[in-house]
Amino acid sequence: MEKLAQLYEGKAKKVYATDQPDLLVVDYKDDATAFNGEKKGTILGKGVINNRMSNMLMQLLEKEGVPTHYVQELSERETAVKKVSIIPLEVIVRNIAAGSFSKRYGVEEGTRLKQPSLEFSYKNDDLGDPLINEYHVLAIGLATREELDLITEYAFRVNEFLKAYFLRLDIELVDFKLEFGKTSDGTIVLADEISPDTCRFWDVHTHEKLDKDRFRRDMGGEVEAYKEVMRRLTGE
Ligand code: ADP
Ligand code: UDP
Repeated sequence: MEKLAQLYEGKAKKVYATDQPDLLVVDYKDDATAFNGEKKGTILGKGVINNRMSNMLMQLLEKEGVPTHYVQELSERETAVKKVSIIPLEVIVRNIAAGSFSKRYGVEEGTRLKQPSLEFSYKNDDLGDPLINEYHVLAIGLATREELDLITEYAFRVNEFLKAYFLRLDIELVDFKLEFGKTSDGTIVLADEISPDTCRFWDVHTHEKLDKDRFRRDMGGEVEAYKEVMRRLTGE
């Protein structure tokens, strides 16, 4: 497979066409942004960690019956993925109140939710990724009823699996964001990435933050935190 022209440069990754029409290459950068791109910075080595971690987790999820875009890791920062048309929804699952959920509902950060929650944001930078409900998704035509149901089922399945998996590493999976897309044959697959950029991870014992909140909240120690999650995952 040959990497061809760059199609897109996002905040955290670059996307390239390949000589195979159904495959793309994603290239993970060290750039970090928060608050809809207002805060910018670099987390040295982040791209390497996120590439590896996302690929590891997607391969585990495939075995759990969640189809993903993962095809093959090509290098430290590059992975071949199935080309999909992204459904423009951020699918957010939560186990513990944090971030925007705590702010919106006045629920103290760290409060364990009575059951996992799921919400959608409309993935649209110009609008600031607003919260959107299922009626709105259907009314605008961002996805069909069947697609929403499947996405919801996959998202909760990802949560149950990852929650248990990380707990064994003494990591609490607080919340995370998923993106789904449609392949050329219409199959819905998990796309984008699963990493400390897109998940909140807390140490079970110390509640230390092991994710991008360290960057968002100017806490420092981002690289060490990302490395620590990776160290526990690989058992090194
Ligand atoms: P952003 O666009 O939010 O700045 P990134 O820097 O992570 O995010 O860029 C990656 C882009 O690639 C995102 O827009 C994401 O939706 C898209 N993407 C992820 N996986 C795939 C895929 N398999 N096929 C097509 N696009 C994808
Ligand atoms: N998240 C993400 N991308 C976004 C928004 C949120 O990956 O554009 C992740 C975030 O890392 C967290 C979860 O989704 O794990 C829930 O984030 P929240 O809604 O609390 O928003 P935030 O506090 O990050 O603004």
